[in-house]
Amino acid sequence: MTGAGRGLGAAIAKELAQRTIHVVCVSRSQNCEKISKEITMTGGTAEAIMVDVSDGKTVELACEKLLERHGTIDILVNNAGIARDALLIRMDEGDWDDVIRTNLSSCFYWTKHLLRGMVQNRWGRIVNISSVVGKIGNFGQANYAAAKAGMVGFTKSVAKEVASRGICVNVVAPGFIESDMTAGLPEKVMEEIKKNVPMKRMGIPDDVAHAVSFLCSEEARYITGTVLTVDGGMTM
Ligand code: NAP
Repeated sequence: MTGAGRGLGAAIAKELAQRTIHVVCVSRSQNCEKISKEITMTGGTAEAIMVDVSDGKTVELACEKLLERHGTIDILVNNAGIARDALLIRMDEGDWDDVIRTNLSSCFYWTKHLLRGMVQNRWGRIVNISSVVGKIGNFGQANYAAAKAGMVGFTKSVAKEVASRGICVNVVAPGFIESDMTAGLPEKVMEEIKKNVPMKRMGIPDDVAHAVSFLCSEEARYITGTVLTVDGGMTM
């Protein structure tokens, strides 16, 4: 479970733990330890590892250690993400690369290293957290939208490759959800967003967590290669 240190990832980690799933909380900082402790203190089981998901070699080493410890990892949720917004004309290459590597390349790294065990086990669930921005684009977010749209193509391709092995690979595409990522938006922009959402509110992290939890369940066994949008009707 990447990006488990706060926001949507923390909510997803706690939701999965409630379903008696042992959760490996991954984040860049020590935030993952806090969430892992919260899970164990409330009766679940979890562990924390600090990994920069944008670095392929670091992810590979982390996966090796996890596989040594656990044999296989049954469920992978690629949630870690960043935004570095700027109008394209002012966007520098660093902001492009950081966003593509953190949001999109990270999915490739984790999936590549954890998929083999799922194939051998004939069971697995992979959920990639994209965004409605990957579908409709957004001012100042060409890098983010490209990464999030890329995740959809990636998901559908991998889903086709492993569908016959009992592995479901899906995308959850949230709309605007209350978290650190959206906390910095000006009040005026927030009001405008709410006006455009048929449900007239921002989502909360639990709204996303419930969707992810379902896609990770046994009951979701005939659902693969799909995009589940969680946006209060904004992009229907
Ligand atoms: P957030 O509050 O900013 O949290 C991001 C999480 O990702 C943090 O735990 C952070 O680690 C981790 N992370 C970032 N870069 C990382 C790296 N290089 N290596 C390891 N971990 C890294 O974001 P959020 O709002 O919860 O968003 C979670 C996901 O949902 C993202 O992929 C985002 O694009 C997507 N999404 C969010 C919204 C929204 O409205 N919030 C809408 C659509 C999609 P630390 O805790 O250590 O900093």
